[in-house]
Amino acid sequence: MNAAGIEHSRRRIMQHGYIGMGGRLTFAGTVVTMGTLNKNDKETRCRMSDRYSRQTVLLGREGQEALLQTRVAVLGCGALGTHIAGNLARAGFGHISIVDRDVVELNNLQRQALFDEGDVGSFKVEAAARKLRRINSEIVIETQVKDIHNGNIERFIQGCDLVLDGTDNIPTRMILNDACVKNRIPWIYAGVIRYEGMVMPVLPEGPCLRCLLPEIPPTGSMTSCELSGVLNPLPPIIAGIQCTEAIKLVLNKTDSPRKLVVYDVWEQRFNKVTVDKNPHCLCCGKRTYTFLDNPERDIVMGLCADSVQIIPPRDTDLDLEKIARDLAGSVEILIANDYMLRFIADGKQLTVYRDGRAQIKGTGDNGVARAVYTRYLGL
Ligand SMILES: [Zn+2]
Repeated sequence: MNAAGIEHSRRRIMQHGYIGMGGRLTFAGTVVTMGTLNKNDKETRCRMSDRYSRQTVLLGREGQEALLQTRVAVLGCGALGTHIAGNLARAGFGHISIVDRDVVELNNLQRQALFDEGDVGSFKVEAAARKLRRINSEIVIETQVKDIHNGNIERFIQGCDLVLDGTDNIPTRMILNDACVKNRIPWIYAGVIRYEGMVMPVLPEGPCLRCLLPEIPPTGSMTSCELSGVLNPLPPIIAGIQCTEAIKLVLNKTDSPRKLVVYDVWEQRFNKVTVDKNPHCLCCGKRTYTFLDNPERDIVMGLCADSVQIIPPRDTDLDLEKIARDLAGSVEILIANDYMLRFIADGKQLTVYRDGRAQIKGTGDNGVARAVYTRYLGL
């Protein structure tokens, strides 16, 4: 680093020290003293000066108020979704709606914030909401235990100003892309795998995710964090970039649409790739929403080379404990409770949820997975 660079860094370090001490910060040439805003309004002072004081210094009172007025949907509550929801709640987004289908498992705790050992077995959105309400009781947190698919996604995003992607697979993201572009709601794509994460804000006019990826790659060509892993420090960094973009979108200060951010946490390599709008894009170009409007709901979906998900054509409400009793003699039951039944059969591991969804590990063949599902669940 040259002398000017070292001097610049030294100044920044001194500023960071001021922030840590709650003192004065020089920002854009103006000296701002923290904790002096809105002295005449006791309630506002509490919200603005105490809870958000380190943020109003940067965003202004109007900026903070804009966040409080924003309604945001977080789709998926896993590695990304939990960090996103935590960031948004602390930042003071006024209305946060979270949708996820799964229950907390022990292997989630390595990377999913908001959960602890006491939450294992609870629905993720319910465990997350308990924590978020303790973090910020002044905002609205709404939750839904639902699988997100093309038949219901528009219900989850209706009335939202912004949607943040915390999902974990491409087919769901394509449906999300269609739904947001169609309903003219900005959304922020993100994904994490191994050491690398990506973020791209998508505005309704595009470019959109389908400009980048016109079709869903064939089953087996996609990797998943289940097989490839994800390093623990990566999700909070990527969710942090995503939430920064969310704040910029709300404040109308975004400079990042058309930019895909790619970050490798192991190599500390950061790239910004320009994404051009494809005029022939079926979604943002032609305004046809083939994933959203597909009349055949995808009932069998390859997750990766060794795993298939099956979604029944309509939601159902299975009595999992009864099914476990019926199967007890013929399969090896691993987990059986109100939320989830997991068992080994025909060399495959089946995880079945109350709404009839199942994940089948041990095959990447949709037909084989469907056959096993039908044999043991009869659906
Ligand atoms: Zn597009």
